[in-house]
Amino acid sequence: MLKGYLKVRDDCPVCGEPLHHHRADDGPAYLTILIVGHLMAPVILWAFTTFRPDPMVLATVFTIGCVALSLYLLPRLKGLMVGLQWAKRMHGFGSA
Ligand SMILES: [Zn+2]
Repeated sequence: MLKGYLKVRDDCPVCGEPLHHHRADDGPAYLTILIVGHLMAPVILWAFTTFRPDPMVLATVFTIGCVALSLYLLPRLKGLMVGLQWAKRMHGFGSA
């Protein structure tokens, strides 16, 4: 469904379903921040109270972890939003 990292194709290359109707907008970024924030906030508290690491080590590990998890989740959540819009026949999906 995606070409490149986040660009949605105009049509599905397998079945030809038009995908240009999607209106994902800021939804995938919002969901990514929501999920990464709710996962990492308790984990950073647990890591700090359990291991008492050097602050630079903690900041480095959690910066890399947050960025990596965000980059992993963002295209998947975009696919989820476009798929949900397709399934609910939103924004012109299913009008043909
Ligand atoms: Zn298809």
